[in-house]
Amino acid sequence: MKVAVLGTGMVGRALAGRLAELGHEVTVGTRDVEATMARGESDAMGNPPYADWAQTHQRVMLATFADAAAGADLVVNATSGRVSIAALEAAGRDHLAGKVLLDVANPLDYSHGFPPSLFVSNTDSLAEQIQARFPEARVVKSLNTMNAFLMADPRQLADGDHTVFVSGNDADAKQVVTELLRAFGHTDIIDLGDLSTARGTESLLPVWVRLYGVLGIPMFQFKIVR
Ligand code: NAP
Repeated sequence: MKVAVLGTGMVGRALAGRLAELGHEVTVGTRDVEATMARGESDAMGNPPYADWAQTHQRVMLATFADAAAGADLVVNATSGRVSIAALEAAGRDHLAGKVLLDVANPLDYSHGFPPSLFVSNTDSLAEQIQARFPEARVVKSLNTMNAFLMADPRQLADGDHTVFVSGNDADAKQVVTELLRAFGHTDIIDLGDLSTARGTESLLPVWVRLYGVLGIPMFQFKIVR
């Protein structure tokens, strides 16, 4: 499958690397290819420059958001939640129409420091805002409730025995994402229902960031025991 992973941060890199490892043709999307490749310093989270990562992942291509999305069968939104709509506008609504759009972003608002709050919640979600803005895309929310490395390879923790949620209005699109999740190694996949259920999974983030504060490590996961 041709996959566009919009986002050059740790999530974009983790998912792009894993998708390429699984044999998919992957293009990472960015605002400005030259500027991204020219960055020489680690980002605020301590992630090394994109060019360093690209050197060890030579099968993954880098293109503008629009060029990456244009040729893709499936598009992943791995951009900062605050700018996801802008990034998807840059990708181009025509390039999203009819495609599965896997949204892993969170609506985090850091304007008052840590822990962040949510800039949309309760009666709406980022996933629904994206769906409303791009009605022809088939938005599926998933993977946003865990660290990037666990998204891409859940077996890095407890042999993968933990839970991932799926929300979306299009049953076929959810099936495509579910198959991808299985290929990553996820086994406990809970389909919560339509896209409004993303209000619930996005609302797990205030819990996630507080657990991170207490545990001091990002490698932990939610597991639904029943
Ligand atoms: P991030 O730093 O949140 O986002 C990086 C991406 O945002 C880059 O591709 C950047 O474009 C783009 N961007 C920044 N400002 C922009 C603007 N004004 N217009 C358009 N695009 C812009 O990366 P991340 O830490 O990998 O997180 C990605 C998403 O996953 C976030 O929504 C986050 O909440 C969610 N998430 C993260 C984790 C985690 O483990 N970090 C876990 C769960 C969910 P350039 O490439 O051009 O710089």
